[in-house]
Amino acid sequence: MDPALAALGEFGLIGLIRDRIRQRSPGTRLGIGDDAAVLEAAPGHEVLVTTDMLLEDVHFKRAWGCSRELGRKTLAVNVSDIAAMGGRPHHAFLALGIPCQGITLAELEAVLAGLEDEAAATEVTLAGGDTCASRSGLVLCVTLLGSVPAGQAVRRSGARAGDGVWVTGGLGGSAAGFVALERGLRPGMAWPADLPRPSWLGSAEEADLRSAMAAHLTPTPRLAAGQALRRCATAMIDLSDGLASDLRHICAESGVGALVRAGGIPLHPGALVAARWTGRDGLDLALRGGEDYELLFTSRADPRPVLAGAAPGLPVVRIGEVVDGPPAPTLETGDGRTEALAGGFDHLRHAT
Ligand code: ADP
Ligand code: MG
Repeated sequence: MDPALAALGEFGLIGLIRDRIRQRSPGTRLGIGDDAAVLEAAPGHEVLVTTDMLLEDVHFKRAWGCSRELGRKTLAVNVSDIAAMGGRPHHAFLALGIPCQGITLAELEAVLAGLEDEAAATEVTLAGGDTCASRSGLVLCVTLLGSVPAGQAVRRSGARAGDGVWVTGGLGGSAAGFVALERGLRPGMAWPADLPRPSWLGSAEEADLRSAMAAHLTPTPRLAAGQALRRCATAMIDLSDGLASDLRHICAESGVGALVRAGGIPLHPGALVAARWTGRDGLDLALRGGEDYELLFTSRADPRPVLAGAAPGLPVVRIGEVVDGPPAPTLETGDGRTEALAGGFDHLRHAT
């Protein structure tokens, strides 16, 4: 254990976390320091609750040295779930497993600083948590509470035949960024001397890979878009496991089919570069890579006027439509054939 961390101890660290908090919402009657937080419920609203954890060597590598980004992402992935319900996030709780070996206080402070950056950006107050020593890697588990006007949460179950299927942003960026990180590229550092560089990979392609790394390390939850989409989305989900898997959830919960055109799926430019670099298919990264944290939703009306006002500059495209039939998505490939849109990330299946 880092001597500075051992000297601080569990309660010293909790005190340090408490002192770092910049964002304090008026609805927090009592935050860190007692047996439980006391929060004010917003009148006319329902409470949203979500949990997402990030585990060392499952979701991130500490060797990447991106601690501040990691803290940001720990909260951002939870904010994305609240956004996908059309809600606003308010209070976060951080359960922390600190490895007995190898981690420094400075590294932990960088994680906490990143978490506080995201909290300030999304108006979230850290109101509690738990701190333990971990016998394996670093564990970062956030539980996030939010709110939505009563009865207006956008569920996965509201899609109906005839609705359009829409997606924000470009897909496959996170998977491409992961490829770049795995191969040794780091944000803010020059191309490593020992990393072979294909002759076709120029400065424009490198910039695309760097933007993909940013998409992987610090995803931007589509909070304003999610809230605005309460006005027209019939079903919504955030893209955490890949379009194939997440659209399957909408189909299953809504009891409908969906037809998606491969040529209409917006790819992150880094996905094409990573695909060429690795011999993989860019579309596969977009459909099955996961962790893009864009919004996938269905809507009867054209959502673009709503989003132009609430999230100016955020791309949104129609990639297909909801259809009657078996509750599973279908992909129309470039040559006009159709196939089941299968695959996507599954923690238990990938663990075997
Ligand atoms: P208890 O033993 O009653 O569960 P703890 O000693 O675990 O209390 O926690 C003391 C206070 O510090 C609580 O308010 C708890 O929410 C807060 N806390 C503990 N760990 C964290 C953390 N990692 N982040 C934020 N707050 C924390
Ligand atoms: Mg506790």
